Amino acid sequence: MEWDEIQRVAVIFAHPDDAEYGSAGTSAKLARAGKEVTYVVVTDGSKGSSDPEMTRARLAEIRREEQCRAAEILGVQHVEFLNFEDGVLQPTLDLRKAVTAAIRRYKPDVVICPTPDRNLSMGVFVQHPDHLAVGEASLAAVYPSARDRMTFPELLAEGLEPHNVREVWVTGTGDSDHFIDITETIDTKIKALKAHASQVTSDVETWMPERARQIGEPHGMQYAEGFRRIEIG
Ligand SMILES: [Zn+2]
Repeated sequence: MEWDEIQRVAVIFAHPDDAEYGSAGTSAKLARAGKEVTYVVVTDGSKGSSDPEMTRARLAEIRREEQCRAAEILGVQHVEFLNFEDGVLQPTLDLRKAVTAAIRRYKPDVVICPTPDRNLSMGVFVQHPDHLAVGEASLAAVYPSARDRMTFPELLAEGLEPHNVREVWVTGTGDSDHFIDITETIDTKIKALKAHASQVTSDVETWMPERARQIGEPHGMQYAEGFRRIEIG
């Protein structure tokens, strides 16, 4: 679909901060254009610390606040926390149902989610098993369960009617075919990343623009984010 046709976008991701790395420049650009952007944060982020004094409950609370602050910086209107346990996520039917409910609730035209495929050439960091599980559950929720009336009838009983997503923009695939120029929002992206103070170090100001430049340059953009686009008939 054309950029102007897009009204609502949902970004579905595993950990507080994932969306800032992968697509925050795009989210800020969408929000500035008056589109409704929703974040669906699947896990509680409660394992992202090596500090022996830190507790899971406290870390989850810190990361929730950081994520809300990042969303505010970007102009993301809704942040839904699904609160699955960090680090041990599986693409179960429970996860698919929770993602389906979020899709039916916010009715996005476009869903942004991580790839479900492990690409061995990309290194382990972007291939966290929680990311792959969210990718699988998100694609399975987009098609068919968000669309199909008969699947998860308990959602219908809650008033969550079927919804057809028009496109999925998949992050972390290594073979992007859809590039969004984020030159005007890269500063906002970096600011949003820095809101995740428990996770991000200040060198993000150096390597993040460099990465966005490398993605954009072959496509005539100063800074870009890349996605694998799936159009749904
Ligand atoms: Zn992550």
